[in-house]
Amino acid sequence: AAKGDGRGVHRFYAEEMLAGAKHRQQLEDDLRTALGAGDFHLCYQPVVGTADARIVGYEALVRWEHPVRGLVSPADFVPVAEECGLIEALGEWVLRTACEEAARWPGSVRVAVNVSPVQFANPQLPGIVASALAHAGLAPDRLELEITEGVFLNDSTATDQMFRALKGLGVRLALDDFGTGYSSLGYLRSAPFDKIKIDQSFVRGIAQPGNRNAAIIKAIVTLAETLGMETTAEGVEVQDEIDLVRELGCSHIQGYVYGRPTRAEHIAGRLDGGELHARPIGFKVSRAP
Ligand code: C2E
Ligand code: MG
Ligand code: MG
Ligand code: MG
Repeated sequence: AAKGDGRGVHRFYAEEMLAGAKHRQQLEDDLRTALGAGDFHLCYQPVVGTADARIVGYEALVRWEHPVRGLVSPADFVPVAEECGLIEALGEWVLRTACEEAARWPGSVRVAVNVSPVQFANPQLPGIVASALAHAGLAPDRLELEITEGVFLNDSTATDQMFRALKGLGVRLALDDFGTGYSSLGYLRSAPFDKIKIDQSFVRGIAQPGNRNAAIIKAIVTLAETLGMETTAEGVEVQDEIDLVRELGCSHIQGYVYGRPTRAEHIAGRLDGGELHARPIGFKVSRAP
């Protein structure tokens, strides 16, 4: 049941593996094998409009089903894939698959794909994106690329050119995990983001009295609105948090409260049934220590 539905993704694999260089090499070899064997799939998590609880899209999140180790968290294998050069092939597979799967959804529903700073530094990225869109027959404005502040560590001229090339294709751009990175606000002057995703660390604890996160979220929302950007609050887990981020003016919500990442089959079935409204599911969340 839990298999592949995004639950119970565990992290001890990499911790164990990263214990030594030999294990690290093993992880790399396993990743390479997995790419060839097709041991990856995508899960999708709904992104919901704050005003009307409509599902505006889904974020694609990669999952690795290791034949022996079980489900491995992307937080563990994406950094390794970045370091050993496998992220290019993995990222291209993610883009193609997400575009193909999203092309089966109703036309109003978007898909968001995470793009690593390593991919962002590759001048071939716009061509890869264009090809994925064309092959799937997906309109460019239905694809949103999520990048992190890490891209601003790359060469700035090349980064500017990449922004222009991607916007030129007509895709949307979102700044992921906002507030956790290098957080120089300077880049917001020129980078053409359509959306800022407020990192879940700012949502944690907002419902508690005296918590400062609400003030920070409010400031981010004001900034984003002034710049004409949408805002998604990430990691919203309970109804109280929905109410608060709505009050603070976030335009979108993503989090376990509206659904865990689930496999494409489940999404497609749901959307076929015309279910475009998300209902909060009040399950108990056990937070990692
Ligand atoms: P992210 O892009 O910020 O994705 C959101 C993460 O938060 C996901 O973890 C999601 O399952 C989790 N999440 C969503 N709602 C909640 C909530 O209410 N509470 C909590 N505690 N967590 C929530 P996941 O799937 O493990 O992915 C972790 C990170 O791995 C992603 O963070 C992203 O940085 C990276 N990643 C995932 N898929 C890809 C991919 O295809 N390519 C690249 N380059 N990176 C990816
Ligand atoms: Mg993301
Ligand atoms: Mg994020
Ligand atoms: Mg993250």
